[in-house]
Amino acid sequence: MRFLIISDIHANLAALQAVLSDAKTFGFDAVWCLGDLVGYGPDPNGCIERIQDFDHVAVAGNHDWASLGKLNLEHFNVDARAANTWTQEQLSEASREYLEALPTHLQQEGITLTHGSPREPIWEYILEVEQALINFRYFTTSICLVGHTHIPTAFLLDESKRQCHAYLSPYPAPLPIYSPNTRLILNPGSVGQPRDGDPRASYAILDSDAGTWEHRRVEYAVEITQERMRARNLPRRLITRLQMGR
Ligand code: ZN
Repeated sequence: MRFLIISDIHANLAALQAVLSDAKTFGFDAVWCLGDLVGYGPDPNGCIERIQDFDHVAVAGNHDWASLGKLNLEHFNVDARAANTWTQEQLSEASREYLEALPTHLQQEGITLTHGSPREPIWEYILEVEQALINFRYFTTSICLVGHTHIPTAFLLDESKRQCHAYLSPYPAPLPIYSPNTRLILNPGSVGQPRDGDPRASYAILDSDAGTWEHRRVEYAVEITQERMRARNLPRRLITRLQMGR
């Protein structure tokens, strides 16, 4: 089976559409979404509707919870707070119900899925090897998929040597995922607001038969999303950062 792995769509429908079309040319059986469908971008309902066109599972992210009033917006910076307040007003009843039903952790095909980290699914960012090492203790499967940092990363734990390595993309592609004595924490990066200096939408294909993880980038019409954000009076800094990928 081939799974399309997406995270941090952040209501960026143009980026989501580009990822779906790109992934379709390779083929996939189902979508696994690692949270933050909404927040920042101009099309929260559109993204939630589009993902439901596919056989899919999803977990909740911090922006999803905040848009439901389940998190205190004081934990957000000024721009994120403004965008989230706007999102709360926009969400349809159906979107709200969809987000309410999202779990914080899931297991699919023997793989753990969560937004931030297995230890702290809503808030923790796994950016460093030290944090990854601690988090390997908080899940029992050999692989855990996370999002939240908006930076495509692979943490590989060699259990025989107790060594952990971090790989920032581009790493050797496709990455083998079922090596003996090896566990992985994999992050596909962000569809709707990349932060690694590359503005292209980021995603991955996990092939459970071939045992591979393939990270991919795809260009999309950033200016369409920016125009839609301007029309909705979303914060200027959130609009300009899309073209920089930061
Ligand atoms: Zn996010």
